[in-house]
Amino acid sequence: MSRFQSERFSRLEAYVPGEQPRDRKYIKLNTNESPYPPSEAVLDAVRAAAGALNLYCDPTALRLRRAAAEVYGVGPDRILPVNGSDEILDFAFMAFCDRRTAVAYPETSYGFYSVLADLHGIEKREIPLKDGFSVDPRDYLGLHCTIVIANPNAPTGIALEPSGIEEILNANRDSVVIVDEAYVDFGARSVLPLTEKYDNLLVTRTFSKSHSLAGARLGFGIGDPALIADLTAVKDSTNPYNVNAMTQAAGIAAFEENGYYADNCRKVARTRDRTARALSALGFELTDSAANFLFVRHPKIPGGELYAKLRERGILVRHFSKPSIAEYNRITVGTPEQMETLLGALEDILSEHRAAGDAARYGR
Ligand SMILES: *Cc1c(COP(=O)(O)O)cnc(C)c1O
Repeated sequence: MSRFQSERFSRLEAYVPGEQPRDRKYIKLNTNESPYPPSEAVLDAVRAAAGALNLYCDPTALRLRRAAAEVYGVGPDRILPVNGSDEILDFAFMAFCDRRTAVAYPETSYGFYSVLADLHGIEKREIPLKDGFSVDPRDYLGLHCTIVIANPNAPTGIALEPSGIEEILNANRDSVVIVDEAYVDFGARSVLPLTEKYDNLLVTRTFSKSHSLAGARLGFGIGDPALIADLTAVKDSTNPYNVNAMTQAAGIAAFEENGYYADNCRKVARTRDRTARALSALGFELTDSAANFLFVRHPKIPGGELYAKLRERGILVRHFSKPSIAEYNRITVGTPEQMETLLGALEDILSEHRAAGDAARYGR
């Protein structure tokens, strides 16, 4: 910290993203990226857009909004493209929370919510999960504050039905309810259609997980035109050109080939379910994940130790030190080949662990 840091940020604890090490080649199963590359048309579109990088991009991202409108089935005035969905969360916390309006979210969820609340000096209401890490909509009725729910939730992968979210929307008509659908394309049901019915619903989407564009940074806020206008005012007051020209072009091309990405998501979902069965057979306990990751613990090996042993073998997964989930690891679903390698490594680790236990027990 320098001696110049503003008092406002002097106690800020920054979000710590999953590691992106460059020291060796890892099988990266730690930040929920797609294992599949962007389509050729996306790469062509990026190359074409690069030719005009001397010019500013369209600050209204009109073509991108129109392409998104086609796929999402809502009007372009209900969509705000952003520099990764973390940015729409930031805008929403600025637009819809303040000293009087707190923010509520599940106690175990995406770590960015708490960081953003601290950044903007917003009171946090962290709502405990039920046994088995589930979110109970009845804990979110009449809260009189902004609400954020990741659906499916992270890092558990557990999804709520739209009816549960509708219950929350109805019981909080005077508050904004943000539904973070970062992982919805892997099998959960979206509440996008409800944005026409509820003027207090903001849905957020990202192309980082489902559309192979984590490095391009592209996300969306979708909701009532009045909500989108508030968010756009914040966007224009912080970074009017928030989505760069190459990313806008990549997004348009990706929407035009939505089938390719939908296929990839289905492949990932099949790989997830197969991997989940194999992990259960090895004695792992898992939550019922509808996302592109699995949240797992083994009764015999502490979470931190499993993380470290996989890392030694060149496999990166995500371990969280938060005590309530420290026994778990979050494993991104990769290609079937990557999952075979993972399962092989886990078998090795488990048998080593058993051997070490036997040696200790029999004094060898
Ligand atoms: C990954 C993730 C995001 C952010 O994704 P971006 O890369 O910023 O688009 C938002 N919410 C959840 C729950 C996530 O897991």
